[in-house]
Amino acid sequence: MAAALPQSDALVLIDGYSPTAPAASRSHNPLFGLTREALIAAMAEMGEKPYRGRQLADALYRQRVSHLDEITTLPKALRDRIAEAGWEVGRPSIAETFRSIDGTERYLIQTGFQTVETVWMPEGDDSAEESAEADEGNAEGKLPPTASGWKRATICVSSQIGCAVNCQFCLTAKLGLQRNLTPGEIAGQVVAVLERHKVELNKNRVNLVFMGMGEPFLNYDAFMAAVRLLIDEVGIAAPRMTVSTSGIVPGILRFAQEPVRPKLAISLNAPNDQVRESIMPVNRKWNIAAVLDSVRTIPFRPREKVTFEYVMLSGVTDQPEHAAEVVRLIRRANLPAMVNLIAWNPGPGIAFSSPAQGAVLSFQQTLLAAGIQAYIRRPRGRDIYAACGQLKRTTAS
Ligand code: SAH
Ligand code: SF4
Repeated sequence: MAAALPQSDALVLIDGYSPTAPAASRSHNPLFGLTREALIAAMAEMGEKPYRGRQLADALYRQRVSHLDEITTLPKALRDRIAEAGWEVGRPSIAETFRSIDGTERYLIQTGFQTVETVWMPEGDDSAEESAEADEGNAEGKLPPTASGWKRATICVSSQIGCAVNCQFCLTAKLGLQRNLTPGEIAGQVVAVLERHKVELNKNRVNLVFMGMGEPFLNYDAFMAAVRLLIDEVGIAAPRMTVSTSGIVPGILRFAQEPVRPKLAISLNAPNDQVRESIMPVNRKWNIAAVLDSVRTIPFRPREKVTFEYVMLSGVTDQPEHAAEVVRLIRRANLPAMVNLIAWNPGPGIAFSSPAQGAVLSFQQTLLAAGIQAYIRRPRGRDIYAACGQLKRTTAS
């Protein structure tokens, strides 16, 4: 089932990096990231009517402008006054693009002085297992391919630069936590990528996964503010979004209270607390039972399921007895659930090995035989370090 891995180590640099972030613009405040209400308030401060704020919101989030001069719905004199008042569009921009032989693109997106990683994964016809997962719970018919050949696409979004959770198998962990991203920096990754591919959201099907760098639930407020912008202003429906957490219980409890929210994925990654603790130190703070208890507080939508991600590490989590334990664990959890098996993606300086394909298949068979929905996540963009757990601002192999 798992597709053959691209073997090339060569990173393909598509767009050159131009270190153009002008020092002068640093003193300007970004409009991108503000809610419609905040934009209306900013216009009111300048003595302008509310519709000017609405025009700004449309320009930023629907027309995806990257400079004030492009907002032609506003008179030039007003645009000048907005700039004089210290505002700029300030949307994160793509600084570098790496393209995989499988069509995946990995971007370094400029956020202030640092870059953050975002991944674009277009899908053709040949992705039955992933389509089944992403389309789970919606009954849309087949869509025609776009001019560039993709039928649907998934954007993998980062929530922090680096990560503090320190999972032993993850390359992002090696960075440590550099900083939290702002709502504009999180939503801006999506808008920059939509603009690059000229995506028309009413015609093209786009899913978002908050599974890039960082732990979204350790940057909860900014993450949820970005989600609301993406729903209300950019126009992506909440059930098209999935957020993945390593099991930050206070975050899950807050998430359960949200009136509108993405789907949830939990990085289970191990069959029991002992193994989980050895590869995910966060398990010492919130063990599997605590995480499951918090997930049970979520009022699931009809047909909604929680996804359990399970990274398969050879000899550590991929054995037949582990599969049997996962079956028992999922049954006891008594949750609408499915499992996403992820063969470990290697990274420099990490001493695990990828599972044999046979081990992944038989693990899946054990789950399926027990009536548990289980998918194997096809690795995307491994040759450009875009696959799960490989995001570390790599600019060379
Ligand atoms: N911090 C969040 C979301 C980002 S990680 C979380 O941990 O859930 C997204 C997924 O990639 C997680 O399920 C994580 O377990 C998995 N992952 C991390 N490193 C990996 C690697 N090297 N190979 C395969 N999956 C990995
Ligand atoms: Fe952070 Fe997720 Fe990587 Fe763990 S797997 S270190 S939580 S990004």
